[in-house]
Amino acid sequence: MAVKGAVLGDIAGSQFEFDKPAHLDWKHCDLFSLRCSYTDDTVMTLAVKKALKGDGDFTAAMQKLGRRYPDAGYGGSFRRWLRSHNPQPYGSWGNGSAMRVSYVGEHFDDFSEVVRQAEASAAVTHNHPEGIKGAVVTAVCIWMARMGKSKQEIYDYVLQEYPPDKYRFTIEQDIAYLEKHYSWDVSCMTSVPLAMRCFYESDSFETFMRNIFRLNCDSDTFGAIAGGVAEEFYHGFGFDPDPVLRRYLSNYLYAILMDE
Ligand SMILES: [Mg+2]
Repeated sequence: MAVKGAVLGDIAGSQFEFDKPAHLDWKHCDLFSLRCSYTDDTVMTLAVKKALKGDGDFTAAMQKLGRRYPDAGYGGSFRRWLRSHNPQPYGSWGNGSAMRVSYVGEHFDDFSEVVRQAEASAAVTHNHPEGIKGAVVTAVCIWMARMGKSKQEIYDYVLQEYPPDKYRFTIEQDIAYLEKHYSWDVSCMTSVPLAMRCFYESDSFETFMRNIFRLNCDSDTFGAIAGGVAEEFYHGFGFDPDPVLRRYLSNYLYAILMDE
């Protein structure tokens, strides 16, 4: 159930999105602390799930849930889109399309359907080619993990989509390099391959999140993007997620998450 991984990744990462301590003890700090909360990544992930379960199209479901949770941390353009009476895609290549797509990778078995629905979920706002690609690559990685593909196969796919001759940052660079050379941005084209790198260098959901804690990055969104891959690949979390989900989510969001 990749959506759970995305939500837990968002919640764990939220504590360091804007104010990561300079000398954070990333190995030992709490995965879930008093500084954590769910953010826009969780709300929009659950909106995509609602749309695919029949609660309107992507636009209607995102506007409905987004307006119910208006202060979840949306970017400026998305915030305007949420309020608009005639919402139109705005050419974004931001990581918002990748962070909300996990249900697509979780739900569809057919590869071409995964791609088609990922594209459709992105295109209502993020109709830039990189916005679309970020959603597709994220959903396909989740689908690959679900289908029992190896970590190397997932790595090779991400590298093929984000090759080093075209992109400054790719899945090839290790966390130690990224700690020194990468800093915060919100593009799909860095967030997706680097979140997948955090997964690639991990051996559990927890060590995946701790890799994210090492980077100066959009940590809740990195967690939401690759959290579903980590959950599917490791077959869970290594801890009972239910008390965490109940602690941080509203009853309404929890019910959407648990709806089979
Ligand atoms: Mg967020």
